[in-house]
Amino acid sequence: MSENKNFVTTESVIALISGLYIATGFAVVFSILFLLTSLDQAAKLARAKQVDIALNLETRYLKAILLEYSGWDEAYENLIVDLDETWVEGNSGQYLIDQHGFDFTLAIKANRQLANLSINDEVKGLEFERLMSGGLEDLIEESLQVQEGDEGSVAGYVLAGTDIYLVVLSPFKDEKTEEIRPDSYLSLGRRLDTEYIGKLESSYELPGLRLANKTEDAMSSKVLLDASNQAIGCLTWFVEKPSLLIAPKVIGIVTPFFCLAIFLTRYFLKLDYADRIAFEERLYKEATCDPLTNISNRRQFMALCQQEMAVHSRNGRTLAVALFDIDHFKAINDTYGHAVGDKALVHLVQICSGELRESDIFGRIGGDEFAVILRETPIEEAVDVLNRVRRKIEACPIGANHNIITITVSIGVAPMNGYITFDIILEMADVALYRAKKNGRNQVFVSI
Ligand code: GH3
Ligand code: MG
Repeated sequence: MSENKNFVTTESVIALISGLYIATGFAVVFSILFLLTSLDQAAKLARAKQVDIALNLETRYLKAILLEYSGWDEAYENLIVDLDETWVEGNSGQYLIDQHGFDFTLAIKANRQLANLSINDEVKGLEFERLMSGGLEDLIEESLQVQEGDEGSVAGYVLAGTDIYLVVLSPFKDEKTEEIRPDSYLSLGRRLDTEYIGKLESSYELPGLRLANKTEDAMSSKVLLDASNQAIGCLTWFVEKPSLLIAPKVIGIVTPFFCLAIFLTRYFLKLDYADRIAFEERLYKEATCDPLTNISNRRQFMALCQQEMAVHSRNGRTLAVALFDIDHFKAINDTYGHAVGDKALVHLVQICSGELRESDIFGRIGGDEFAVILRETPIEEAVDVLNRVRRKIEACPIGANHNIITITVSIGVAPMNGYITFDIILEMADVALYRAKKNGRNQVFVSI
């Protein structure tokens, strides 16, 4: 094949493009992973905010009712001053529990004494003391701090027994002056039970909302703190990962696209590569081969000889250079025609190629002139080989136009023993060839 030149080969272009595709693939995969992870995080964040909004809305609802009662003089009179249980039953206590789903309503009078506690029938064992020690007392303290800001109403989580309550509390106020009545409070509470949590889950679309003992992922759970910042439980919920929905679709789109792009690129580059290799081989053959006989032309022969000479000079090996020339070839051309002359040239090459070794370098260096380098061959042995070839050529005539044409060759051979150049040894072989012609042709003449 052709000599090695430092061209950018199609193979290296394919390797480069494949590398770029792989790098791009990694970049795309990492970008998609980053995008999907960000989407998942955003979904979690959004859901956490949704839970906060839901709890705020619930608290607001509780507070709205609470403030209605705590600022109503009639309620104050009956709950705190008169302790009128009949009024309470029909207007606040049980009424609020039935109508608005509270689990308790609580009125607290001076010195934080119980004025009235109405409890939903479904709640067992709820007592005033439990509520107070479970965080209600802290809420009252808190209410004292915020009286100015939010009309003294506060909200928080209270642990009573094993139950957690969402509790709102406000001091009673004078209906007309809106002055806070000292040391009297109204409190309403909703137990965070399965039913209530289920209602929140469906009303606010918070799938998987549950009351749990411990937090899971910080972004899909919320710790419930009492008024003194003690963790008393937590809410957890489920967040659908957008990545699980999107990833299969993205993979389904990107993967075939990438595979197709890689396949098409490789296919067209390889197609181009095959065309180019064939073209290069044709060019190389045209530049180095004799088109008639298909052996090395003069240029290629000389190039191969130069290489051989370099090896020979380095290793001091023996070789012989021989020149062949067909005897009276002009006459063959003139007598039988140029085509027969061509046939004779091809015929001669076939015989020589059959007789010479693979390792010998053989080429057509002129019209009817051929040259051969016999590697690792002393001159005596070279003469024997060349005589054998010469006799074979003479013994194998060619048939053309019903004629049997015998061709003979004259051969000049020169040995290469010392460190002489290829030009000199070629010159010596040429002189020997001239002598062979002069001596009567059809013979091998050794350079003296
Ligand atoms: P000599 O014995 O002295 O070599 O006599 P010759 O007639 O062979 O003389 P010479 O070697 O000088 O002639 C070579 C001839 O070869 C001349 C040319 O017409 C012929 N020739 C050169 N190339 C080709 C070719 O490709 N095909 C054919 N048919 N003839 C060629
Ligand atoms: Mg000749």
